Amino acid sequence: MIILTIKTSERIDFVDITDKVASKVEASGILNGIVNVFVPHTTCGITINENADPDVVKDMKMQLSKIVPKESNFRHFEGNSDSHIKTSMYGSSEIIFIDKGIPILGTWQGLFLCEFDGPRTRKVYLKIMEN
Ligand code: ZN
Repeated sequence: MIILTIKTSERIDFVDITDKVASKVEASGILNGIVNVFVPHTTCGITINENADPDVVKDMKMQLSKIVPKESNFRHFEGNSDSHIKTSMYGSSEIIFIDKGIPILGTWQGLFLCEFDGPRTRKVYLKIMEN
C-alpha cells in the first residue's frame, strides 16, 4: 500500500491530487488494472469532479455550506457534525481504471481530497492492482 500525505489549508478545502496519484501509478509499473484511493478519516472525503474551472470548486463549497451549515442543532460534542455529514455525502474512496499506465479520467475530471474539518494533514491510501 502507498500512503500520500496531503496538507489542507482551509476548513473546507478541495485539494487536487490527480497528478500525485498518477505519479504513483506510473512508478508502480502497472499498465492495466485499477487504483483504489481511500482516505482513513471521518471528516475528509474523496471525489472526482471538474478541475478545469476553479469556480466549480468554489460553487461546491458555497452550496455545501448552505446544504449542511456548520451551526445547527447538532448533538455531537466535537462540534463538527457538519464535517461528518459532508464526509458521508462524498464518501471515502474512489476506484479509477488504469490503462497503459495512466489513471483514466474524463477530459474535465480530476481527483480531489475533500477536507471538511481542516486545515489538517491527511493521509490518502492507494492500492494499485494489476489485472
Ligand atoms: Zn467529530
